[in-house]
Order: sequence, then structure tokens, then C-alpha cells
Amino acid sequence: MREAFRSPAELCDYLQLPPQLAAAAGDFGMLVPRSYADRMRPGDPADPLLRQVLPVEAEHRTVPGFGADPVGDLASATGRGLLHKYQRRVLLVLTGACAVNCRYCFRRHFPYAQASAGPSHWTTALEAIAADPSIEEVILSGGDPLMLDDGPLASLSASLESISHVRRLRIHTRLPIVLPERVTQSLTAWLASSRLAKVVVVHANHANELASDVPAALGHLASTGAMLLNQAVLLRGVNDSIATQRDLSQRLVEVGVVPYYLHQLDRVAGAAHFEVPVAQGLEIVQEMRASMPGYLVPRYVQEIAGEPNKWVLA
Ligand SMILES: *Cc1c(COP(=O)(O)O)cnc(C)c1O
Ligand code: SF4
Repeated sequence: MREAFRSPAELCDYLQLPPQLAAAAGDFGMLVPRSYADRMRPGDPADPLLRQVLPVEAEHRTVPGFGADPVGDLASATGRGLLHKYQRRVLLVLTGACAVNCRYCFRRHFPYAQASAGPSHWTTALEAIAADPSIEEVILSGGDPLMLDDGPLASLSASLESISHVRRLRIHTRLPIVLPERVTQSLTAWLASSRLAKVVVVHANHANELASDVPAALGHLASTGAMLLNQAVLLRGVNDSIATQRDLSQRLVEVGVVPYYLHQLDRVAGAAHFEVPVAQGLEIVQEMRASMPGYLVPRYVQEIAGEPNKWVLA
């Protein structure tokens, strides 16, 4: 994390790009791990990985329909760090931190400092989970839950294991993709030792992200017995074509990950330039379905504020 790029000018220089390509990042600073930058093509301003993380002028445009809390997360917060938005599963927001700041993320406006539950708040969250026998799955979310150290994570996992109605532990993380070094031996050791069924949902949007040390890191995660799934976001100029989606799915399965969700972009202020019309998304997914085995085709989904589950578009 210390070595990550935080200055857009420095990243542009590293990639042999003109510094004017970047704009001021505003409150949501640029953050790009070096190993992620190393998977970008030098000299290519349209690189699909660069586009996801480089602040650009278009972010500062105000576009009607794009707001601060498009998915209604604040409305579903039931206690510090605990989001009970879905039936039978709860989301535990462990930290507001990520290893990367994806420019399209709704996190850019979410007041995580007040809403996330650091270790000092876990007792309350655990008591709430223990008191509700309908909860069978706990989703560790963020930010990125793997920004926490393995010690606290292992102890949280042990506490969850002691609640008999909890059957599954799900971890939503982009770290194995953007900073694969995070998949340490201590991480795989506590995961492997858990009695809970484990699901790790990673987040990759383009096949070029699944290079370098990423396949090995995913292999270590799979060796714990965890099921590996991917969620992607449909992003203009990154993965808005049949060819890029097909490549992504094929590459995912080659590295042991099932394409699970393709998200329609949440309409968050500052991300309008990433939006792909739903009609185009439908066309891409229908074309994938016609030409590939079913397990290579993600569910194309949209988050609707206030709805108890995602809306499946295709
Ligand atoms: C959709 C969603 C969930 C629930 O996912 P399911 O796989 O549908 O259970 C949890 N967290 C986030 C951030 C989601 O978008
Ligand atoms: S890793 Fe996920 S939560 Fe973090 S900035 Fe990127 S999209 Fe947002």
C-alpha cells in the first residue's frame, strides 16, 4: 500500500502518458497499486485498467439522475456496520478502505467513517447476528474487508463460527485482483480452517486484470475450499463489447472463477461517463448466451434502491 500511486501525474509519467490526461481527483483521491499499474499498457490512454482508476475531467460534470446514494444503502443500515438489506444474509461493512479507488464506485460518496464497523464495534454486530436465527450467511464487505489484518479477520470468523445458525461466510473483495500479494499464507490458513462454507466474490472487469500473480493468488484461495465467483460492472470504454466480455468470462474460468454478476452501473454522481445503456448491455449478454456455455454467462443485474433483491435484466 505504501508503494501505491496516489498522484495522477506520477502514474501518467510511469505509463509514458501526458499528465494532462488526468484531472484533479477531488475528495475521492486516486489510489492505484503498483502491481495493478504494471498490467496497464504503457502509452495507451484508452487502456481498460487505466480508465477504471484515473481521475478525469468528466467526473466533475453534474448529470441529472446521478446522485450520492443511488442504491439506498443508508436507508438499510440497521446498526453500525450492519446492512440488513437482503433476506437470510447480512452485510457487515468492516472498513471504508480499499486498495484501489475505482472511479465508478458508489463508495466515493458513502459516509463510511460513520457507517463501518471497526473491531471495536464487532461485539454489537455479532450480538445482532446471534439474536436473529434467520441469518444463515454473513457477507464481509467494505470498502474491502481484506484491508484488515488476518488476526482480526480470523477472530471475527471464529466468532461467527460459534453462532450455530450461521452456515456461510462470504467475502466481497477486489484485493486478490488489484493486490494479489494480499493472499498470504495466514489468510488461506484461517479460511481453510473455518467450518463455514466459504464464498469469495472477487471483482474483475477485464481479462487483462487476470494476469501476473493474480492466477496464483486465486489458486491459493481456491485451495481453502472456497467457491470463487466474480462480479463485474459494465463500463463504457472498459468492457462494453461482446469480445471483451467473452474474453473476461473465458479467462475467469481458466483461473478457477465463475462469472456471477455483471452489474449495470449504479448511477453515482461522477460516474455518468461510464454508463452503458441497458439496451446495449442486454444485447451483449444475449449474444454471449447464444454463443457460450451457460456457466460463462454472468447474470446481468441492476440494483434498485429500496428493493429487497437485485433486478435481473438478463
Ligand atoms: C447484490 C449484493 C449482495 C447480495 O448478493 P446476492 O449474491 O444476490 O446474495 C450483497 N452485497 C452487495 C454489495 C450486492 O451488490
Ligand atoms: S474495490 Fe470495490 S468498493 Fe473499493 S473502490 Fe473499487 S469498486 Fe469500490
